[in-house]
Amino acid sequence: MMIMRSNKFRIVIVVADGLGDRAVPELNGKTPLEVASKDNIDWLTSRGVTGLWDPIAPGVRPGSDTAHLALFGIDPTENYPGRGPFEAIGAGAELEPGDVALRGNFATVDKEFRVIDRRAGRYLPENKDLVKYLNENVGEIDGIKVRFYAATEHRVAVVLKGRDLSPRISDTDPHVTGVKVLYSKPLDNSYEARKTAEVINKLTKIVHDLLKEHELNKKRVERGLPPANIILLRGAGQMVKYPTFKERKFVIIDKALAISATAMIKGVCKLLGMEVVTPNGATGGVDTDVMAKAKTLIEYYNKDYDFIYMHVKGTDAASHDGRTDLKIRLIERIDLAMRYILDHIGLDNTVVIFTGDHTTPITVRDHTGDPVPVTIYAPNILPDDVKIFSERSARKGGLGRIRREDLFNTLLDLANRREKFGA
Ligand code: ZN
Ligand code: ZN
Repeated sequence: MMIMRSNKFRIVIVVADGLGDRAVPELNGKTPLEVASKDNIDWLTSRGVTGLWDPIAPGVRPGSDTAHLALFGIDPTENYPGRGPFEAIGAGAELEPGDVALRGNFATVDKEFRVIDRRAGRYLPENKDLVKYLNENVGEIDGIKVRFYAATEHRVAVVLKGRDLSPRISDTDPHVTGVKVLYSKPLDNSYEARKTAEVINKLTKIVHDLLKEHELNKKRVERGLPPANIILLRGAGQMVKYPTFKERKFVIIDKALAISATAMIKGVCKLLGMEVVTPNGATGGVDTDVMAKAKTLIEYYNKDYDFIYMHVKGTDAASHDGRTDLKIRLIERIDLAMRYILDHIGLDNTVVIFTGDHTTPITVRDHTGDPVPVTIYAPNILPDDVKIFSERSARKGGLGRIRREDLFNTLLDLANRREKFGA
């Protein structure tokens, strides 16, 4: 078969979130990937090129947001607005360039705005109801639209939409108890920073007035729980504009799709111009229906999408919970879904990647800066000698150790979807 430069291959990427691991004592020093039975991922590995990928750089611990930006060819060290906007996206906000987002805590203050508990007891099943109440009653402040989004436990995200906003403002969260809630101050002399700080200070007062008399808080006090009567804010960030695949100079991708159940990942993919679907049964947890995702992938593959991304979050969730057994079982279910995918795509016209977005070791229960194993199959690729997919065997792979956008560029090149740099 002759493969011409004009033959563009399709691209299929499957990512198990937090896939990489370290030696696990209960597995006699092996990793979940080394123990799981995964013949189909190994089959792909034996026909492709394997290696290690540093989502940011060796030793730098990525978030899922920064790792995914890198996976899709955006350098997150130069184009990252901070955690505020991405936490808001993770909580379900749809952000546009220019929006300012902050991370927040429901907290407890006394009449003088002195902080009694920075997390309002941390146990806050009322979170969603309080957020709904705030959204129904705050609306706009000085022409700026304010939206609240419930996150886990006592956490919330606050999004400001409107003209002349700036992220250059200080936190209202004093980060300690016993002192008063701080006034947000502009961090430069711009009109935008002064205006944004003023909105935040008015917001703090309005939120307190609304929450202190709220029925749910009265009930909390009756039950001996601290009332959630204020929101402490930190980490303001302003959403930036990311170029979509179509807007990027060297990238030749027309129809791109992401399959995920995780709000933040869906948000990142949308920002980059992908369509996003969540199949029935996809949960974002260890119980997710991986096969439903694989079937969706094939459905869209058959609709001539040239770039399809499939994300499985549960491996990361299992790692954060320290559940070796659940991580292994989910890898095995992903392997079966991989069989379905490999059986239904054209292996003579598709580039396939399997990897993680970062390492989340069971023993650490959080993301680390270790590299992630990655395997790449392409129709005309020259395979290396690696036949098993794992953190250990990937060290011997022909891909070597690459970082950040190198992976995206490599796969575009293999798919004949990268414009030439130079004459
Ligand atoms: Zn992740
Ligand atoms: Zn994680």
